[in-house]
Amino acid sequence: MEIGKLQSSNELLSVGEEILEISVISVISGMVLLAILPDFCKLGHMLKKMLVAVVLLAFSVLHAQTADPQLLAEIQKIKAIDNHSHPPKLVSVGEKDDDFDALPCDPLEPGDLPVVARPENPQFLAAWKALYGYRYDDASPDHVRELVRAKQKIMQQQDDNYSNWVLDHVGIEVELANRVAMGRGLNPQRFRWVPFDDPLLFPLNNSGVANETPDRKFFYSREEMLLKRYMKDLGLNGMPAALDQYLSQVVTPALEAQKRQGAVAIKFEAAYLRSLDFGPVPADPAAALGDAQRTYSRFITGGIPAKPEYVRLQDYLLRYIAHEAGRLGLAVHFHTGFGCGTYFILAGANPVLLESLFNDPTLRKTNFVMLHGGAGPFSQQAAYLLAKPNVYADFSEQTWLTSSRKLSEVLRDWLESFPEKILFGTDLYPNTPEINWEEVGWQTSQSAREALAIALTGMMQDGEITRARALELARMALHDNATKLYGLQTH
Ligand SMILES: [Zn+2]
Repeated sequence: MEIGKLQSSNELLSVGEEILEISVISVISGMVLLAILPDFCKLGHMLKKMLVAVVLLAFSVLHAQTADPQLLAEIQKIKAIDNHSHPPKLVSVGEKDDDFDALPCDPLEPGDLPVVARPENPQFLAAWKALYGYRYDDASPDHVRELVRAKQKIMQQQDDNYSNWVLDHVGIEVELANRVAMGRGLNPQRFRWVPFDDPLLFPLNNSGVANETPDRKFFYSREEMLLKRYMKDLGLNGMPAALDQYLSQVVTPALEAQKRQGAVAIKFEAAYLRSLDFGPVPADPAAALGDAQRTYSRFITGGIPAKPEYVRLQDYLLRYIAHEAGRLGLAVHFHTGFGCGTYFILAGANPVLLESLFNDPTLRKTNFVMLHGGAGPFSQQAAYLLAKPNVYADFSEQTWLTSSRKLSEVLRDWLESFPEKILFGTDLYPNTPEINWEEVGWQTSQSAREALAIALTGMMQDGEITRARALELARMALHDNATKLYGLQTH
């Protein structure tokens, strides 16, 4: 397989400069032609129209910004806090890591990957060079086999330190590890746990809601399995008969156990299972509780609840958990925006649907993070939700979903609105032996830095900020905002 010709961001930058030079020439020559071309015949008129289009196109290229090299070099040195990732644990021969995601996508009907995440992305070749000293400009099977051997050698040499070694080489100081459970090699100094709490939302018979899409059928089976695991960890055999007992014997103890085991936040992948619309702020909290209690006790022993009443119970549980998370000092993470699987329901993943949680006065002590910042169609809306005092967004996933150029446009929107609420994230995940979490980590870390540099260069050139402020904003997005939010002690 032939991998593209651009190997490094420097080469990309020099190509950008060439395009800029060509555009300047085409703008000038286009203007000259426009002035001298007579408009006396139809052909002349058409030519003139085409030239206007060429000149406009050239202008738009002129407006596309490249990163200030000095600023980019400074940004490259920042050791980042990764707000969201799925690093694998180290496994022995024959052992498997099933805990890297509560809802893994690989068992689903296969779909196409977005272009940036495909193996032919030249950034992966650059990652092999940077991480493992890869010497080739192609990805021929022999060369890739050599690469995998080189990787295995470093893994053996580093042993239990390998995951730390990877973080050092991708420029990450601390990574929030969104996993069902932590594991070998994920040193708690470098990897902070973010467990999943969706299972707690679905205590009843799920067969009515699980049939909505083929993917959800699989996802609900995972949630049911996880709820059993959480119950077992708490030493419980069966579901309590009443909602109050479920809250006091299962939900609160599960959250407290997660906190004790080092969790800094909890994560909901609810957008894969239902809409993020958790209903309006309850006008009558006692009535909402009564309704939830009735549904729980009626169906906990059997029967399939109707969707509206089950959804109201889930809404109640979500608000209860969010409140408890605030009490325990755990931030609440939500998947927002584009998700995996060919049956994913994008409309239900719009972060604007979370507004009633953000506007709930009883939840203002809970910090919410819109993971992926509405990745894809909703990133602009996400920027304006950051006005809420307890709401943050990370740009994880966007780092492998879109190019650094496209990401820079999103980041400029965010940096120009509420820069104190922006968090860097990779959303790295285990993948194939040759393009695995290490390469995705390197690619996303690089793209994030390039995108930040492009956005901040534009703001500098437009006179919005000084060079010093540009670097400060980069530090906030890559590091400082996260250390403040989670109270991390870092360098
Ligand atoms: Zn993720």
